[in-house]
Amino acid sequence: MSTAEDLFKKVTAHAKEYGFVFQSSEIYDGLGAVYDYGQNGVELKNNLKEYWWKSMVQIHENIVGIDAAIFMHPKVWKASGHVDGFSDPMIDNKDSKKRYRADQLLEEQIEKYQRKGKSDKAEQLQNELNKALNDNNLDALRDLIVGHEIACPLSGTRNWTEVRQFNLMFNTRMGSVADESDVVYLRPETAQGIFVNFLNVQKTGRMKIPFGIAQIGKAFRNEIIARQFIMRMREFEQMEMQFFVKPGTELDWFEEWKKTRLQWHLALGTPQEKYRYHAHEKLAHYANAAVDIEYEFPFGFREVEGIHSRTDFDLKQHQEFSGKKLQYFDPETNSSYIPYVIETSIGLDRLFLLTLCQSYREEIVGDGDQKDSRVVLSIPPALAPVKAAIFPLTKKDGLPEKAREIMDQLKRSFRCQYEEKDTIGKRYRRHDAIGTPFCITVDHETLAENSVTVRYRDSMEQQRVPVEQLSALIDSKVSLRNLLM
Ligand code: ATP
Repeated sequence: MSTAEDLFKKVTAHAKEYGFVFQSSEIYDGLGAVYDYGQNGVELKNNLKEYWWKSMVQIHENIVGIDAAIFMHPKVWKASGHVDGFSDPMIDNKDSKKRYRADQLLEEQIEKYQRKGKSDKAEQLQNELNKALNDNNLDALRDLIVGHEIACPLSGTRNWTEVRQFNLMFNTRMGSVADESDVVYLRPETAQGIFVNFLNVQKTGRMKIPFGIAQIGKAFRNEIIARQFIMRMREFEQMEMQFFVKPGTELDWFEEWKKTRLQWHLALGTPQEKYRYHAHEKLAHYANAAVDIEYEFPFGFREVEGIHSRTDFDLKQHQEFSGKKLQYFDPETNSSYIPYVIETSIGLDRLFLLTLCQSYREEIVGDGDQKDSRVVLSIPPALAPVKAAIFPLTKKDGLPEKAREIMDQLKRSFRCQYEEKDTIGKRYRRHDAIGTPFCITVDHETLAENSVTVRYRDSMEQQRVPVEQLSALIDSKVSLRNLLM
């Protein structure tokens, strides 16, 4: 395999070629940083959601799920701090007219220093960047960009504007009369839908602290720099869980969830060294501890999931702005309090990208005359879009009918695909490329003995298996049960 950059290009091309991800509105030249999931992508995405949902909601007796609306009362975003504070420091290059996130330009410069072995310089810049961000000092950010001679990658010039804050929320209007008071926002995170329903769920579900509320849903951010494919999108999906705890216990729970969530990632079989924790230097206004789980993408370690100790900030704010009490009555101590919250928040699309990057492999297989190459997605079988592909060896002698019969049996339990076109070898390659763990060939022996050849994706080994054992064999490998802790 060549460079990491090449690998990323190949992964993105593969994602399109095999129906995982398409650019939105492609026939109109696309819409920036908005993507559609194709026929295989949607299956993988649904499987990732199911893995998360089952791990969080089904396995934990004290976590329940909700599905809140995307639109919320505008006051929600005042209370949460998003109207006034959900912004990124942006800088424009006057020649290319391109806009960048000032902190990201500096982060990239730090990575550049590190790659060149200039670790002292990298460390110093990191400290200065942290200070500028902590102090909200936009001039200092600009001075760093200028001082470190950072040029616009497009124009190559250092002709920069001032650094300005740019709010990331999309807004629209509700109802037919245009009036300032009708402005509603597309939610930039799913978390607030959980906070405003805290008491609804606690009371109707008779939940006792500690307990959690989980949600999967779309979020929208008007990201300025949209790069790296589905890494940073304007419309994306989050899987969030807010865990409500007794004040004073939050840091213990924070540690607990930090461990649990990393284990969840590792259960998919990704090597430990591909992950790392990154503790936040600059804490958000609502947090008293925060850590990211980062994965090593081909372009470097990047955040996939955030775990935040959000204190009682959100519930307190909503209590104040709504005038409604948002307290928990503790029957053990006969007293009421506003719970503290630990949040786990993972981007589904980033997890999807991670899965593609981690599973994409190019291999030379066979030798001599049989030498061939293949691209295989070794996606964990439980997540694979198609679990089994069923091939009649030829299109005659009753083999298609027998293959269809097997397909009909299996498709009620697993997502299967029937294919009779091309050689078996070509059919194998097509399914390697989308990560199908089992290819099942129906041949003349099948008619005589009711057995099939099962070919395994990763080892490419073949095994003769009685038809009546197929379902149990597939189930033993593709069931999410294997992953749930
Ligand atoms: P980043 O620093 O990368 O912008 P963030 O710290 O703003 O991310 P959070 O607000 O903590 O992200 O959101 C939780 C998760 O949502 C992130 O870990 C990430 O996986 C995902 N996420 C956030 N923004 C985007 C986006 N624009 N596109 C895709 N996923 C995103």
